[in-house]
Amino acid sequence: MIQDIYPSKLHNEFARCEMRDDDVALFYDAEGRVLLKENDGKICFTTGADAAGEQTVYLFSLDEKRFFLVMDRNEFRKEGFKNYTVREVRDICAGKEVYALFTAYHLWKWYEDNKYCGRCGEKLDLGTTERSLVCPKCGNTVYPRINPAVIVGVIKDDCLLITRYNRGYAHNALVAGFTEIGETLEETVAREVMEETGIEVTNIRYYKSQPWGMAQDILVGYYCDAVGDGRIRMDANELKYAEWVRREEIVLQPNNLSLTNEMMKMFKEGKR
Ligand SMILES: [Zn+2]
Repeated sequence: MIQDIYPSKLHNEFARCEMRDDDVALFYDAEGRVLLKENDGKICFTTGADAAGEQTVYLFSLDEKRFFLVMDRNEFRKEGFKNYTVREVRDICAGKEVYALFTAYHLWKWYEDNKYCGRCGEKLDLGTTERSLVCPKCGNTVYPRINPAVIVGVIKDDCLLITRYNRGYAHNALVAGFTEIGETLEETVAREVMEETGIEVTNIRYYKSQPWGMAQDILVGYYCDAVGDGRIRMDANELKYAEWVRREEIVLQPNNLSLTNEMMKMFKEGKR
């Protein structure tokens, strides 16, 4: 999965530090596309030297390499570099850099969407003791937003409930959805499976979680069992496909970045 980068490690502890010329400094455009150079599958990052004079904020370190975010948009250009969406990053990068760039995107999106105080409209300042934004006028403190969502492997006999979404990702997937205010994750599982496929589930058990910066999510994976005859009533607004698929016939996604793919793979290989 995207976060499985051992023995490398992404250090996300908050720190205030001065940017050096050899750090990574990421430039994003208004659409959230990051400036990179790709060379034979190897990613070159823009550097602290490129961002000299800009306001930046420290994001995290990938092993020893420190990543900063350039806070204000500008027209900075560099030969051989171009802007990539996070989806394109998923296609052109491999390994730990994908995880770093998904995480950087999540942070960029949060800073981008929280420039002004939601209470009084004043411009927010960077927090100095933790990852936060603080209103200098009314004291409102804004913390990073992470959206909880579930991924559900629904099992019936020797079959798994495979879906494909109407919009966005084109490959095979599982039932998925965001947690609503006022419910537990297990209740999200039961509600989403019922809403998307009309199936009642039981024996809901936790599998693993995954940070998924592309959609500002924390994904929480569960397996569960279908109750009754398993007749599918698909929500055609959300899905274009929902079928029971036998283990050996499950077609996996093109790479193993996602928790969804790992859950399909585990079932396909008889490990669940
Ligand atoms: Zn305020």
